[in-house]
Amino acid sequence: MTEQPEVLITEEEIKKRVQALGAQISEDYKDVEDVYMLGVLRGAFIFLADLSRVLTVPRRVDFIALSSYESPSTAATGAVRLVLDVRAPLRGKHVLVVEDIVDTGYTLQYLLRTLQAREPASLKTASLLQKPDRLEVPISIDYLGFTIPDKWVVGYGLDWGDRFRTLPYIGVVHPPDEVA
Ligand code: 5GP
Repeated sequence: MTEQPEVLITEEEIKKRVQALGAQISEDYKDVEDVYMLGVLRGAFIFLADLSRVLTVPRRVDFIALSSYESPSTAATGAVRLVLDVRAPLRGKHVLVVEDIVDTGYTLQYLLRTLQAREPASLKTASLLQKPDRLEVPISIDYLGFTIPDKWVVGYGLDWGDRFRTLPYIGVVHPPDEVA
């Protein structure tokens, strides 16, 4: 059996940071008619749920899902594809992409290119976590929760083989071959 993940970021720390991000986003979008929050399934569902509820500006919520290509040839380029798209056109909308974690950055880079082509009025990103040591492409995150070390993290929406998504904190799992 896998051991319980080791706590990296507590429930209280996440709550405070989400409140602060929400305040900053609400200030930045105060003159905007509607913020179109776009959650990236599945990992961002809890972050999106909490973040969307602390905003004080009008907002809508929608989801997209991406899938990575698994073959070795495409892994090198970080190729991803859209498997669930938004329900409405994005043209003229103020889109805020809500991600769980930015690792190499390929996923977000693909997503931003794809969404930019649809001519939104503005396009920004919020990510709960980022592993700066792993970044391979030049992207910047407008609203970042925490930077973390290069470890596999779970909880608050993030999984390991579909486990641990509902943990209230961010924890580190140690794969069995790493455990002494
Ligand atoms: P990127 O394209 O930036 O390399 O990868 C981003 C995606 O990889 C995230 O949306 C997430 O699905 C997955 N990912 C990267 N690092 C972690 C991690 O530490 N834990 C979990 N659960 N997923 C991760």
